[in-house]
Parts: sequence; structure tokens; C-alpha cells
Amino acid sequence: MKVAICPGSFDPMTLGHLNIVRRTAAIFDSVVVLVMVNANKSSPMFTIDERVDMIKRVTARFDNVRVETYDGLLAEYAKRFEHAVIVKGLRAGTDFENEFQMAQINKTITPQLETMFLTSSEKYTFLSSSVVRELAGYGADLTEFVPREIIDEVLAKAQGGAVNG
Ligand code: ADP
Repeated sequence: MKVAICPGSFDPMTLGHLNIVRRTAAIFDSVVVLVMVNANKSSPMFTIDERVDMIKRVTARFDNVRVETYDGLLAEYAKRFEHAVIVKGLRAGTDFENEFQMAQINKTITPQLETMFLTSSEKYTFLSSSVVRELAGYGADLTEFVPREIIDEVLAKAQGGAVNG
């Protein structure tokens, strides 16, 4: 069974992330959306549990997608599968240098581990979680940027309010 791992911070999940997960789920038998507990990222907007909960709701429609968290090295996590591939989205410009470096490092740690890239959908190539956090802070309409299931939650959090339901 071929397993794809889609790692990231997902703080919060955007339509760009969802686009990559959907396309990956159409190619692989099984997909793990892996929320990385990244110590370098200070003051996240959402807790890990909140992010997992949101991604689960957004991806509930895909039978072969599950959500997990990991607080170690991605290359170590991947060792638990016999055949796992890291799948990442590649946006215009910004992602290449970082992703190239990470793919090389992961392969050094776990030589059989391949990283594959799906080019970002044109519509989402300039979309990031940080853009969403900024827009949400201004109470902007997030329809074009965030999965509909979590729009209210993202806006409520950015406005410092509690989320209902
Ligand atoms: P980071 O690793 O910078 O925290 P994220 O956690 O937001 O990034 O994203 C995880 C993965 O999703 C990365 O591979 C990133 O390239 C990809 N990604 C993020 N936003 C988009 C987008 N708009 N289109 C395609 N891929 C994306």
C-alpha cells in the first residue's frame, strides 16, 4: 500500500492545502495529513488539537485521508511505513529553495524516503496560512481562501472571540 504524507503546520488549513490533499488522495491509496509540532514556530494561532479537529472536518469527505500529529523529525516518522512518500505543494517562487533543502536532508536521514511535489493550483499559488491569519485579523471575507467548514472558526479566533459549536 502506497502511503502519502502531507506534512505542514496548517495554522490554519487553507484552500491551497486542501487542493494538495485532494489531489494526493486521488493518486495514493492512503494519505496522512501530518500536523507537525514545530518548536520553531512561536505563537501559533491555533493549538495542535484545534488544527487537527479542523482538518478532520474539512477532509471528512475523503475515505483515504487521516490526520495525525508528530513532534519529531518527519524523516523519522516516515520510517514507520514500508512505502511512504512525502507529498508537498510547491508555490510560485517562495517554496523551492526551502523544499529542495528539506527533501535532501530527509533523504540523507532516511535514504528510501522520496519527496514528490505537486505544483500549486494557479488560484492558490500566493495563498498561505500567514496571509489567511492577516486577512482574518481584519475580518475579511475568507470564502476564496479557507475551506467553508472552518471560516467562522478562523474569523472568531482572529477577532479574539470564542467559537460556537
Ligand atoms: P510551512 O511548512 O511553511 O509551515 P504550511 O504548513 O502552511 O507551510 O504548508 C505545508 C505544505 O503545504 C507545504 O508543502 C506548502 O508548500 C504547502 N502549501 C501551503 N500553501 C499552499 C498553497 N497555497 N498551494 C499549494 N501548496 C501549499
